[in-house]
Amino acid sequence: MGAAGKGGAAPCIFCSIARHEAPSRIVYEDENTIAFLDIAPLSRGHTLVVPKAHVDRLTDLPPDQYAPLLSTLARVCRRVERLSTHYNVGLNQGALAGQIVFHLHFHVIPRYEGQRTFPRVRKEITEEDGRSVHGLLRAD
Ligand code: AMP
Ligand code: ZN
Repeated sequence: MGAAGKGGAAPCIFCSIARHEAPSRIVYEDENTIAFLDIAPLSRGHTLVVPKAHVDRLTDLPPDQYAPLLSTLARVCRRVERLSTHYNVGLNQGALAGQIVFHLHFHVIPRYEGQRTFPRVRKEITEEDGRSVHGLLRAD
C-alpha cells in the first residue's frame, strides 16, 4: 500500500471515494471493489472500476484481489452494454502512459456510432444526463 492510501500527506481521491468521503456517482460497490462514473468522461457512460484497497498498479495488487476486481469489471461491462455493446477497457500505468490518479483503476469507455477514433476530448456532462446515465448503470 502506498502512503497515499493511508491518509498521509497526499490524500488519494479514489480512497476518499471508496470511503464515501468524496462525492461520486457510484454504479456498483461490494466489499472489495467500487465502480463509479468518471468525472470528466471521454464518452457517455465512461466508468472506472477500482479496488477499495489502495495500490498504485495492477502489479501491486494482492493476487486474492484479482478475482473480485475482474468480476466487478465484467459486471460493469455488462451494464455498459445497456448503452453500447462497443467499448474499450483501459489501464494506464505510469505517468508516461497517461496515469494521473495513482490508485489502480480500469476505464470502461463506451463507443458510439460516428466516433471513428478513440475519443480524446473529455465531455462536459450535464447534471441531467449525469443523473440519467447513473440511473441506467447503477440498476442491477
Ligand atoms: P488515469 O489517467 O488513468 O489516471 O485516469 C484518471 C481518471 O480519473 C480520469 O479519467 C479522471 O477524469 C478521473 N477522475 C479524477 N478525479 C475523479 C473523481 N473525483 N471522480 C471521478 N473520476 C475522477
Ligand atoms: Zn487510493
